Amino acid sequence: MKIIMFGPPGVGKGTYSSRIAQKLGIVNISTGDIFREHLDRGTELGRRIESYMKKGKLVPDEIVANIMRRRLTQKDCEGGFILDGYPRTVTQAMALEDEKIDVIITLIVPDEILIAKCVARRICKDCGEIYNILNLDRTIEDVRYVVPSMSPQIEKKCDKCGGGLIQRIDDNPQMIKTRLEIYREQSKPVVKYYHGRIQFIEINMTGAVNLMVNVIMEKLTPILNKL
Ligand SMILES: [Zn+2]
Repeated sequence: MKIIMFGPPGVGKGTYSSRIAQKLGIVNISTGDIFREHLDRGTELGRRIESYMKKGKLVPDEIVANIMRRRLTQKDCEGGFILDGYPRTVTQAMALEDEKIDVIITLIVPDEILIAKCVARRICKDCGEIYNILNLDRTIEDVRYVVPSMSPQIEKKCDKCGGGLIQRIDDNPQMIKTRLEIYREQSKPVVKYYHGRIQFIEINMTGAVNLMVNVIMEKLTPILNKL
């Protein structure tokens, strides 16, 4: 099964992609991971990626598309894959044309909740473990969102290593709003490109991770059975 996972920043795309990939026994692919791998290995591509990142520029579509195309020809992709947050542009989507994507999953959460969740995110300054101190229970347009907090056992201390918890500078309402606006602008043409050609499943992210993984799996099952 070949899946594209869409969703705004802060919705937990990475988490859901890896959990669903595990359940389906397919690989989870994110451009971020591939970039990091090239950077770590110091490949020619890695050096090119680095030069763009140093200038604070986005890596050009052709390079990203090339990397992805190459990645998708590797053996572990034969059984299927999930693309985590890719393609981001129509050019990237067109480069994927040869891959027969079965379904696009769109994770939906109101901005208000994304902002509240982002502001409540805490990260261990030593090991990078992520926590969320918000105990969410809110109803928006008749939909109730209940997501328990993921707080550390001892306040402001990492469960794993005892390190102090900090808030990322860009986890503030204004910067989150900007990130969401950029996401909307970017994703609109991509969604339009796929509209009517590939099946979309839209999931309202109303609950905790385990619950939502089950909801997604339930929606995927009939599609999986038809393959
Ligand atoms: Zn830690």
